[in-house]
Amino acid sequence: MNDQSPSSATMGVAVFDGVEPGPRVLITAGIHGDEFEPIVAVRQLQVVLRNEAIRGRVTLIPIANPSAFNRGLRTAEDDLDLARVFPGSPTGSITHQTAFELSERIRQADYYLDLHTGGTRLQLLPLAGYMLHSDPRVLAKQRAMAEAFQLPLIWGTSAELQGRSLSVARDANVPAIYVEHGGGGSFDFSIVESYLRGCLNVLAMLGVIERQVDCRCTPTYVEERHSNSGHLQVCHPAPHNGLFMPCVQLGQVVDQGDPLGTVFNVSKNIETPIPAEHAGIVLMLHTSPSVSEGTGLAVVLQTNPRLRSSE
Ligand SMILES: [Zn+2]
Repeated sequence: MNDQSPSSATMGVAVFDGVEPGPRVLITAGIHGDEFEPIVAVRQLQVVLRNEAIRGRVTLIPIANPSAFNRGLRTAEDDLDLARVFPGSPTGSITHQTAFELSERIRQADYYLDLHTGGTRLQLLPLAGYMLHSDPRVLAKQRAMAEAFQLPLIWGTSAELQGRSLSVARDANVPAIYVEHGGGGSFDFSIVESYLRGCLNVLAMLGVIERQVDCRCTPTYVEERHSNSGHLQVCHPAPHNGLFMPCVQLGQVVDQGDPLGTVFNVSKNIETPIPAEHAGIVLMLHTSPSVSEGTGLAVVLQTNPRLRSSE
């Protein structure tokens, strides 16, 4: 075992046991090693929780993927995306081992929150997401957690996605949400603040800590059941290698066919426009210009709000 092997020490695991019984909540950051604000938010949460009376148990994992974090990259040295190999294996490469270690902890939780950003290559609008779980009780809990987190967009997506931390939670019937905000290679303290507030809100909503939920917005709900929904990396794939030069901004409303930008292959002097596949709001952009054929360049969210009363 080297010093980057997944363990409680390298992951910075902190456990807060309450004197009274209550739910067991797991919060992870750093599943991707280049997503820094969530890591700092979880460390700040650790400081806040020292002064809170806790019911149940809160487990914080600020550096869920130590090997990737030590490289400052999305992935560890085996170049596998941790968010695609869950539940992992104790005998596989480093990323499989990390997934295995985390899967055990997810299954032992009653509720799970997984904090992300777009990392160094992507930028995303702030959102709280979950899988559209087949058990209505789990789904209702996930909606309540997403609402309490208080990001402006709530996105329910396919329950079929495999390999994610949330896939493990789904299979164990553990209500779980993930959050995304920002990215693009900078550091934004407002994301740290909103994630810290969001985690405290969810803990308060679940009765783990005694606090008022700090409501600042009424989130917009979008729920999409098609099988690829929630898979950010497959939308608007680059037609060839080159530089992606977007001509839209996050949050911009586009019609089907509107240009999102172009991919410019400098050596072959080919510039290919990227039209929006459908109308909606620009949810994600690949903001690091260098892209390979097949790289997902943008996600356009179809903004027909879910009618909760119709279900
Ligand atoms: Zn991530």
